[in-house]
Amino acid sequence: MKVDFLAIGAHPDDVELGCGGTLAKLISEGKSVAVVDLTRGELGTRGTDETRAQEAKAACEILGISHRENLGMKDGFLKNSDEYQMQIVKIIRKYRPDILFCNAIDDRHPDHAKAAKLVSDACFLAGLKKIETELNGENQEVWRPKQIFHYIQWKHITPDFVYDISNFIDKKIEACLAYKTQFYDPESTEPITPIATKDFLESLTYRAQDLGRLSGVDFAEGFTTEKLLAFKNFDGIVC
Ligand SMILES: [Zn+2]
Repeated sequence: MKVDFLAIGAHPDDVELGCGGTLAKLISEGKSVAVVDLTRGELGTRGTDETRAQEAKAACEILGISHRENLGMKDGFLKNSDEYQMQIVKIIRKYRPDILFCNAIDDRHPDHAKAAKLVSDACFLAGLKKIETELNGENQEVWRPKQIFHYIQWKHITPDFVYDISNFIDKKIEACLAYKTQFYDPESTEPITPIATKDFLESLTYRAQDLGRLSGVDFAEGFTTEKLLAFKNFDGIVC
């Protein structure tokens, strides 16, 4: 199968937090999108890997994502190993995305930056002919995404560009709140974590609004790039 966009996150909920509005908008425009989570988030203080899997499913329904899978890597111990790189090479060759979104290059959770580098390296390797992989008994063709964009999550990182999600901020927040065990819930009896506070929940909207303020739209999500971006025309630029 081939998708236009593949979004990868170290933990279920990373993709929703970092680029949920972007994915909802792309899907509404008829683009094909797949999501891959590297770990099950089993070390999360709140909830369990089972609840997180159910929540990821619910978030997919909200955003309209029809393809999501989990690679079952070790939460908290992501590493840029040959084994993990090859798992991601297979995923890239399976979904053949033109554009790949993945974790922030630096963040509070160490898995996020590790995932950013791991996925980035795997994108390069996926384009090498002499690395042979198989899926369901068939040889996979080489594939390298045209662009890798890193979404922004906990830490403030100055984006290289922002994407207008003005009509999709509500969907983003709804998808994040599908992770009922993870985020602000005044009735929860689970321990309070930094991402389970009211402040964190409000910061999602605030950041999108602030990036929108700076760029001339209502709400936006920011990304950093690995390559210099070139435009073929200026049609989509907000002025
Ligand atoms: Zn995470």
